[in-house]
Amino acid sequence: MISTGLFGKYGGVYAPETLMPALEELETAFLRLSQDAEFLTRYTGLLQTYAGRPTPVYHAANLSKIAGARIYLKREDLLHGGAHKTNNALGQGLLASMLGKRRLIAETGAGQHGVATAMAGALLGMETEIFMGELDMERQHSNVLRMQLMGAKVHAVKSGGRALKDAINAALREWISSVRDTHYLLGTAAGPHPFPTMVKFFQKIIGEEARFQIIEQTGSLPDYIVACVGGGSNAIGMFTAFLEDQSVELIGVEPAGKGLETLQHGATLIKGSLGCLHGMISKVLQTSDGQILDAHSISAGLDYPSVGPEHAYLQESGRASYEAITDEEAVEAYKQVARLEGIIPALESSHAVAHAMKLAAGKGSNSRILINLSGRGDKDLEQVLKYVG
Ligand SMILES: *Cc1c(COP(=O)(O)O)cnc(C)c1O
Repeated sequence: MISTGLFGKYGGVYAPETLMPALEELETAFLRLSQDAEFLTRYTGLLQTYAGRPTPVYHAANLSKIAGARIYLKREDLLHGGAHKTNNALGQGLLASMLGKRRLIAETGAGQHGVATAMAGALLGMETEIFMGELDMERQHSNVLRMQLMGAKVHAVKSGGRALKDAINAALREWISSVRDTHYLLGTAAGPHPFPTMVKFFQKIIGEEARFQIIEQTGSLPDYIVACVGGGSNAIGMFTAFLEDQSVELIGVEPAGKGLETLQHGATLIKGSLGCLHGMISKVLQTSDGQILDAHSISAGLDYPSVGPEHAYLQESGRASYEAITDEEAVEAYKQVARLEGIIPALESSHAVAHAMKLAAGKGSNSRILINLSGRGDKDLEQVLKYVG
């Protein structure tokens, strides 16, 4: 029997009957391998020797001077592949390979998760197919070329809005018909159980390392932790190690796009309502009669009209709070980190930086803010240069 995978009233398994055996098999395998010494040794080995873990925590002294508080950056931008997504792709890829699957499929929006999956497929010698909205394939052509270079086949999804939500639907459909030899490598801490729990398991290394590193460097815990939230994987990966530390305030940052008063945003936790999408109960951006809205922001990696169920639960229980940052504020933070620190952050991560800078104002130079810098921003350069308020 599959366990429920509930976080309060959020999460669960709301999938078609035809998918249930696959989800049950995956849950059983995950529960077994996540405690298996051989699996854990191989996974940790790949993280260290292939992907470059541990990533450092860096005290951003120049940003701190402007901010007023002490700012620390967890440098997931230095991970192989340029973002935290590698942690999850390697973990699920290895799990699938040890289960005897020969093929990986995945959805991708901006292409970052597709590239991470193609990387894992190449490394593990598995056939890899990526589902990507036709519109996203035009917008993110260089990521399509990267996936192909690493041997993945990219399928154009032509249904619906031809973007991320439609790519997930296509990948789920494909999985139903190929479940025996194929693993669906979902890219964030969302979807039906066991995905939210499994993706958290592969991302929680971020917070485990950071907690140790910041105590080592400063002698104590940070006062605030700030991470951007799309589907929620880098944020839950950072938050998990600090959940029991009641003195540490946890803050997730969603994309306010052109403004929360417009429909051009992706602030699911702040503006969404209870709903069911992609096999889970969570907050969803939807009309009053349940039509799913498309999420919009300058940062394609945050444009998901739902969110991982554990974040909905952390918001409801009050353990974490969620704020939103506009495109304009994120672009400003992107430029500021580049100029002051010589680090180009992903536009996704720039949302977290922008909120941290607001938070720092008036907090005093003794308070410490740890930001998860989820990825590097070379990919966003053209978009930022083109951006006019
Ligand atoms: C994909 C991505 C995100 C958003 O995904 P989460 O699952 O919310 O972490 C954030 N930052 C970067 C750099 C990304 O590539």
